[in-house]
Amino acid sequence: MSALTLELTQEKLARVVFDLPGSKVNTLGQAVLADWEQLLTDLESRQDVRGLLLLSGKPGNFIAGADLKELGSIPASPDVTRKLVQRGLNVIARIERLPFPTVALIDGSCLGGGLEVALGFDYRLGGSNPKTELGFPEVKIGLIPGWGGTQRMCRIIGPPLALDLICTSENVKTDKACELGILFNAMPSDRLEEEAKRLLAWSATSGDWQDTRRKKQQPVGLSEDQASFIFAVARAQVLAKTKGQLPAPMAAIDAIEKGCNKPLDEGLKAETEAFVHLAGSTISRNLIAVFFMTQRLQKDPGVANASVHPANVERVGVVGAGIMGAGIAGAHLRRGVPTLLLDVNAGALNKGKDAIVQTMQSRIKIGRMSPEEMLAALSQLSTGIISDLSPLNDRDVIIEAVVENEDVKTKLYRDLQPHLRPDAILASNTSTISITRMAQAVEKPENFAGMHFFNPVDRMQLVEVIRGSKTSDATVVTLVALAKRLGKSPIVVRDCPGFLVNRILFPYMNESLALLEEGADPRAIDKAAVAFGMPMGPITLNDLVGLDTALYAGRVVNSAFADRARNARILGELVAAGRLGQKSGAGFYGYSKDGKGADDPALAAILEKCRSAQRTIDAEEITDRLFLAMLVEASLVLAEGIVRDPTDVDMGLILGIGFPAFRGGILRWADTLGMDKVLSRLSKYEPLGKRFQPTEPMRQLASAKRGFFG
Ligand code: NAD
Repeated sequence: MSALTLELTQEKLARVVFDLPGSKVNTLGQAVLADWEQLLTDLESRQDVRGLLLLSGKPGNFIAGADLKELGSIPASPDVTRKLVQRGLNVIARIERLPFPTVALIDGSCLGGGLEVALGFDYRLGGSNPKTELGFPEVKIGLIPGWGGTQRMCRIIGPPLALDLICTSENVKTDKACELGILFNAMPSDRLEEEAKRLLAWSATSGDWQDTRRKKQQPVGLSEDQASFIFAVARAQVLAKTKGQLPAPMAAIDAIEKGCNKPLDEGLKAETEAFVHLAGSTISRNLIAVFFMTQRLQKDPGVANASVHPANVERVGVVGAGIMGAGIAGAHLRRGVPTLLLDVNAGALNKGKDAIVQTMQSRIKIGRMSPEEMLAALSQLSTGIISDLSPLNDRDVIIEAVVENEDVKTKLYRDLQPHLRPDAILASNTSTISITRMAQAVEKPENFAGMHFFNPVDRMQLVEVIRGSKTSDATVVTLVALAKRLGKSPIVVRDCPGFLVNRILFPYMNESLALLEEGADPRAIDKAAVAFGMPMGPITLNDLVGLDTALYAGRVVNSAFADRARNARILGELVAAGRLGQKSGAGFYGYSKDGKGADDPALAAILEKCRSAQRTIDAEEITDRLFLAMLVEASLVLAEGIVRDPTDVDMGLILGIGFPAFRGGILRWADTLGMDKVLSRLSKYEPLGKRFQPTEPMRQLASAKRGFFG
C-alpha cells in the first residue's frame, strides 16, 4: 500500500496526501522514497495537471523526518551512504522540476528530511495546528541535513539564519517561519487548501513559481568579506557550545561555506561529501541510540505488568518547603496540579513560596512562561504548618522533602498516618536513606516509595522512582505517570544505597579523590573529565555539591559497598578546615563572589597531609580510572536488577549527571570500545582494588563477543 495517494481536483490540481500506513507520523524511509518515485513518474507524464498540493494525513504531523531506524543502521561507508543520499536528492530535484507550480501545506511538525522535501516545493503554507513547527534536528543526532537542506535553506533565508537554524537545531513556529521566509504565508488550518489553490492559480498566471525556482538554483552571492565574517562567527559560536566535541555543526558550516556561493548542484555535492563522513559514525550512532532510549523511557509504564494502571492524581501535598520541596511544588503547579505545601513554620514556608515565585519569574524572563500562566499556577497553591496535618487528608500523593534525617522523616510518617486517605501514596525525596527501611514506619508500605527529584528541579529532567521491597506496582505506575505529567523522565530503580545515579557516580567521585591523593593535579583531573565530555570535572562538582554533603552521602554509599569503595582522607580534612566548597568560598578551589573557582595555594598544605604518593599521572590514566570505576559499578547495578534495562543506566547518567550523550551512556561507551579492550584496560588497574575487577557479566560478554546492548 502506497504512503501517497493522488487525486485530481476539479481545478486539475494533483492533491497528494502523505499518510504512512501503520505509523503515527510520516517518515521518509526507502519504501516511502519508492512511493515518491512512482508518484513522480506518474506526475511527470501527465498532461492534465496544473499544480501540486501536498498534504499530510497525520493530525499534527506533516513529515517527522527521515526514518531514524534506517539512518541508525547505515554502515560507516561513504560509498553506501552516498547512494542512499542520492535517492532522496533525486526525489526532491524531480519535485523541483515538475512542469507546474507546487505547494506544501504544513499543518503539523515538519522536521529534518520532511523540511527538506518541503523546501523542494515552490511554496510552503503553514496551518494553525499548535503542533506546527519547522526545523532541522539533524545535529542532535550527529548529522547535518543531507537532502539539500543546508543549500536550499541558505538560498531561501540567507546563510546567517540558515546556519543558526541548522547549528542550534531549534525549531521555529509558524509565525517565526513566515517572518524568516521559510513559509510563504500562514492561516487557519481549515483555510489552507482553499488558499493553496488560490496561490497556485495566481502563481501559474504570474509565473512567480518559475522565479522562485530560479532563485533556489543560484549562488547566494556573498562577498569575500561577508563570507569570512559570517563563517568565522558561526564557527566561534559552535565551538563555544560544543568544545569541539561534536563534528556535525562544524560540518554544516563547512558545507554551507563551500556551497552557498556556487550553483545549487555544486552546493549539493559539498553537502553530500560532508554528510557521508558523519553518517554511520560512532557519535551519530550513539546519538540516534539516545533518541530511541528517550522514546523507550517515555513509553515505559515502569512495571512489567501491563494490566496495572496509574491512579488518578488530582491533588498533591509536599511536606518540606526547602530547596527541593519548593522545586517539587513548583513543578506540580506549573502543570496545574493543586498543591498543598507544608513546613515547620511560617518563615520556612515563606522562603519556599518566594523560591517558587522566583523560579517562575525566571521562566517568564526567558519566554518559557507567561505572566498569566504564572498567576494560574500560583492560584493552585495552598500552604500550611505541620502542627496541623489534617489538610493532607484529601491528597492523592504526598511527597516528603524534609531534612535528610531518618528520625525526622519517620516521625513525620507516623504523625501523618491518621490523616492519610486509605489509598494515598506517600513518596520520599530522600537521596540516601533506604526506602525499604523507612517503609517500616508507615501502615501501608505498598503505598510508599521514593520519588527522587534532582536539583534544580526546574531544570533537571530525571526522577528516580524507587521501589522498596514492599512497594506495589500500582504505586510505581502512579508515580511514574505523575513524573511524566510534570514533563520529567522517570526511571524505576530498586532500593539500594545511592539508588541508581549516585551509586554509579560515587565510584567516579571517589576515584577523582584517589587520583588526587596519588599526586594528580586537581585541574588535570577536571580537564580530563571535561575532555571526555562531562559538563564539569569531579573536583569542581564536589565543590558545587558541598564537601560536607559529599562526605556524608559518600559515607552512606561507601560503607554499603565497602569491599570496593575507596574512602579518601581529603574530603574530611577539607570539611574540618571549614572548606565546604563553593557555598563557603573555598573547597578544592577558592571562590570569588561571582562563583568562579581559582587555584587556591592554601589547598597544597592539606593535600600534602593526605597524599600517599607523588607521581605524575597522565590524562589517559585519569580518564580510564574515572570511567572504568563508573563502568564496573554500572555493570553491577544492571546485574543485580536494580534497573530493568541497560537503557535505564545510560539514560539515568545522561539525564542525572550530564554524562555525554554523544558517548551514548557509560554502558554504550563500553560497547563502543569493545568488551575485550575494556577488560584489558581494567587489568592494568586491577591491582588498585576490587573497583577495577571486571564483573562476571562483563567477562561473559567479552567471551561471547557481545556488548551490554547485544
Ligand atoms: P532543605 O534544608 O533546603 O529543606 C528542608 C526543609 O524541610 C526546610 O524548609 C525545613 O524547615 C523543613 N523541615 C524540616 N523538618 C521538617 C518537618 N518535620 N516537617 C516539615 N518540614 C520540615 O533541604 P533540601 O535540600 O530541600 O532537601 C530535602 C530532601 O531532599 C532531603 O531528603 C534531601 O536529601 C533530598 N534531596 C536534596 C537534594 C539537593 O540537592 N538539595 C537533591 C535531591 C534530594
